[in-house]
Amino acid sequence: MIIVLQKEASETELQDIVARIKHYGLEPHVIVGVARTVIGLVGDKNGLEPSFFEGLPGVEKAVPIMAPYKLTSRDAKAEDSIIQIKNVTIGDGKMVYMAGPCAIESREQILETAEQVKIAGASILRGGAFKPRTSPYSFQGLGERGLEYLQEAGETFGMPTVSEVINPSDVELVARYVDILQIGARNMQNFSLLRQVGHSRKPVLLKRGLSATIEEWLMAAEYILSEGNYQVILCERGIRTFETATRNTLDVGAIALARRLSHLPVIADPSHATGRSELVTPAGCAAVAAGAQGLMVEVHPNPDTALSDGAQSLTPRQFGQMIKAVQRVAGALTLSSTDEWWERNVV
Ligand code: PEP
Ligand code: MN
Repeated sequence: MIIVLQKEASETELQDIVARIKHYGLEPHVIVGVARTVIGLVGDKNGLEPSFFEGLPGVEKAVPIMAPYKLTSRDAKAEDSIIQIKNVTIGDGKMVYMAGPCAIESREQILETAEQVKIAGASILRGGAFKPRTSPYSFQGLGERGLEYLQEAGETFGMPTVSEVINPSDVELVARYVDILQIGARNMQNFSLLRQVGHSRKPVLLKRGLSATIEEWLMAAEYILSEGNYQVILCERGIRTFETATRNTLDVGAIALARRLSHLPVIADPSHATGRSELVTPAGCAAVAAGAQGLMVEVHPNPDTALSDGAQSLTPRQFGQMIKAVQRVAGALTLSSTDEWWERNVV
């Protein structure tokens, strides 16, 4: 259930309602929107009806949320959530590009990549230090040393950073070094990890699980929000299907649907979605056409020698070309929504 406050509701009225919610053993989540403040109720409502709250001072209405994900849903917050990470804004209508190697391999490698992706147009630097590899014999990442290199590269080139955390006990460590905590596809339903990043105040990039439904993905986000961390970015990275020609199948419809169902920003990862460097640009364009507000792309100075995911990694030059193509799609979407464009091109 959400309680929508009257526009003119006072702070005292808000606090009274919050106290009453707590008194009934529920957890209030105050969500301040542009037009309205709403309070999301989380917990076992045990027969409490919306009408119980509707008579209270400051309350405009109380509405049940039908979806199993509550705080994540558009019903809880009608307008898009915008996440500010240092100098970068996600979800404000401007495309955001996160780029970097699958795995941080050395100080030189991440510094070189950072410099080149920054020049090409990326604003956030990615790099894996704790790698969830399919084989225990594959390169597992440099761990904390990798995070030190990533932090140095991010600071040197003025880019916020993102890196995956795979263990609940490592959340604090990873959060000391990076600006965004990444939850990988394989851990999307690691509920203790989700709760742990929910306690962190760092934004979380939540990848969709390999075989997760859209509802399961949004429920995973709900775990994080319900712990008080509302800064979640959803990332579609392809799902498992019968098709083997591509590494995964980019679920373009899921991007459009997630944007409708949730107020959280949605981005896409065309690298893991396709597994093939030559498909990254077309898949990235499709994702943006469907409503993705940013892309995460694997870029390596020399993909042939990459210790992880070389086949899907772009060179910095290819990445720059990809951005040009994607920006044309993003620009066309903005233009097509203006009357001027219709008059010039359609009527
Ligand atoms: C990654 O981004 O490096 C990664 C492992 O991605 P995913 O969790 O989507 O497979
Ligand atoms: Mn990878």
